[in-house]
Amino acid sequence: MGGEVWTLAEMRAGTLHSVSLELLAWGRGLADTLGVPLASVVLGSGLDGVEKPLFAGGADKVYVVDTPSLLHYYSDAAAKVLAEMARKFSPQIIIASATTQGRSTMPALSAMLEAGLTADCTGLSIRDGRLLQTRPAIGGNVMADIMTPERRSGSNPQGLTNPPQMCTVRPKSRRPLTPDATRSGEVVRYKPQENSLSSLIEFLSFEAEQRVGLPIQDADVIVAGGKGMKGAKNFALLDELAQLLNGSVGASRNAVDLGWAPYSAQVGLSGKSVTPRLYIACGISGAVQHLAGMSGAEKVIAVNTDPDAPIFGAADFGVVGSVLDVLPQLIGALRGKAK
Ligand SMILES: Cc1cc2nc3c(=O)[nH]c(=O)nc-3n(C[C@H](O)[C@H](O)[C@H](O)COP(=O)(O)OP(=O)(O)OC[C@H]3O[C@@H](n4cnc5c(N)ncnc54)[C@H](O)[C@@H]3O)c2cc1C
Repeated sequence: MGGEVWTLAEMRAGTLHSVSLELLAWGRGLADTLGVPLASVVLGSGLDGVEKPLFAGGADKVYVVDTPSLLHYYSDAAAKVLAEMARKFSPQIIIASATTQGRSTMPALSAMLEAGLTADCTGLSIRDGRLLQTRPAIGGNVMADIMTPERRSGSNPQGLTNPPQMCTVRPKSRRPLTPDATRSGEVVRYKPQENSLSSLIEFLSFEAEQRVGLPIQDADVIVAGGKGMKGAKNFALLDELAQLLNGSVGASRNAVDLGWAPYSAQVGLSGKSVTPRLYIACGISGAVQHLAGMSGAEKVIAVNTDPDAPIFGAADFGVVGSVLDVLPQLIGALRGKAK
């Protein structure tokens, strides 16, 4: 039997972040196919009880590194601790989320372990006993399947003849498993060496981003606008519709590049992947790079003046018309209904 499959859980402000459970959904399938345990590794401070949601979410084992030194997330210290643990426990796969934490820690970890790393995967499976990592490539025009060949030379100076296969996966590229509170497993409390915990980073303060509504990756309803919105001021229509539907406002990259919406609202290959129940695409052409971020939406409504716009190919309902006519009518109808 090979090594375990590991996922890196994320703590934010003392709370387990939902991406930790999405990673377990990916990891569960891989571990079952390989016939090995699925373990989650969580670093932080004050982690009492953190293992429960991880077991409920699919983990067989939880490695807990609980120390005041890790109260704030320092990617250099996290990478050193994880490298120390990987050398000791020899996992065969390590999966992190393509969040700021995962994106800053995994490259350092892969360099320390001399392991390959595939960033921003949207699909993971097992082929011939190895991790098959799928991600958009060449501007999102192709899906590339990437494998990290087994290293047999024994030349790794860190003593790993077969380093783990490592990847980051896009948040929201998969839903968490239905939690099963009856599941439990093994908790391993790990105490790293002091020098692994040292960091060159000094925590000054935490400034939360100012925004209306939920972040798009957590929203159930997204009203998104593209270049067809014709100007920043017309995004007020999207704000209004989003408020009526208890949703958030998203945007295409063109709209973001034009300064009509903040980058945090960008949906797509170089923005966020989203999985709302309803996605309303307004004046968005439906380029593959945009579709890559919204393919997890349950229902899609598109409004576009061009009946041949590719967005209609991805939509459940389409309205051929100008957003400047359709959105005010829709808002009026919803306001009338709300009265
Ligand atoms: C490497 C790479 C990464 C990228 N990443 C992303 C990404 O993350 N997200 C993203 O969105 N794009 C991304 N892009 C850009 C992408 O290729 C498209 O250029 C972009 O999505 C187009 O934005 P748009 O649909 O707003 O604009 P356009 O393509 O210009 O489409 C505007 C649409 O509005 C319609 N329209 C015009 N007037 C009206 C009206 N009055 N009412 C209704 N409809 C109207 C038009 O018919 C048209 O379909 C990326 C590109 C590359 C190369």
